[in-house]
Amino acid sequence: MLVDTHCHLDKLNYNDLHTNVGDVLEKAKLRGVEQFLTVGVTLDAFPNMMEMIKDHPEVHASCGIHPLDVESEFDLSIFRQYAANDRVIAIGETGLDYFYQPESASRQRDLFEQQVEVAVEYNKPLIIHTRQAREDTLAILKNGQANKCGGVIHCFTEDWAFAEAAMDLGFYISISGIVTFNKATELKDVVRRLPLERILVETDSPYLAPVPYRGKENQPAYVREVAEYIGLLKGKSFEEVAQITTNNFKNLFLNK
Ligand SMILES: [Zn+2]
Ligand SMILES: [Zn+2]
Repeated sequence: MLVDTHCHLDKLNYNDLHTNVGDVLEKAKLRGVEQFLTVGVTLDAFPNMMEMIKDHPEVHASCGIHPLDVESEFDLSIFRQYAANDRVIAIGETGLDYFYQPESASRQRDLFEQQVEVAVEYNKPLIIHTRQAREDTLAILKNGQANKCGGVIHCFTEDWAFAEAAMDLGFYISISGIVTFNKATELKDVVRRLPLERILVETDSPYLAPVPYRGKENQPAYVREVAEYIGLLKGKSFEEVAQITTNNFKNLFLNK
């Protein structure tokens, strides 16, 4: 079995692509994807996301404020209340994105630090989004003692040195469909070097559909292409990649 460890089920196209969440999950299960982590990006959208998954226990949730959504409503007491929900197994996505929004960097750092603090207090792993902010991301994780709750660098696109620093903090590295893109040569090299025991697989759907679906809307079923491609790069069977990355998911998020 496979796990899509990072998707945004509340952002998929339910007008003409899928009839509802159950439909999305069925399509994924036909391809061996049996568990899901749907990731929150704002407090505003969180209640609706939880309502969507209420009849689907195979879907886990996270709660966070995305670095590109730091202008959205943020109330620490509401965040803490949402984060305490039993179905919330992770905090995030949170982190820093200086590529798209350098102008909100200080607000991003402030909300990131607050989310790290809650993650450590609740002992729920962090889901980190980072872009062009390697040093600040690592500094905030270290200062906040994020090694205590652990976490994942999602949709990894950084270099080998950053991957090593993240693994030193006990973090996992999550690989998305980007790895299948022709131009992603550095990422392919990082994946060849990473121990399979530190890798998670994700779609980040509806974004970043892997080859051969590039340009279409992404969906959890396509995490299979990501796992197959990792197998090719590492000379491992699909079954081995599926089994080990699923174990990694369980070790990080479920067997706390
Ligand atoms: Zn992200
Ligand atoms: Zn995401």
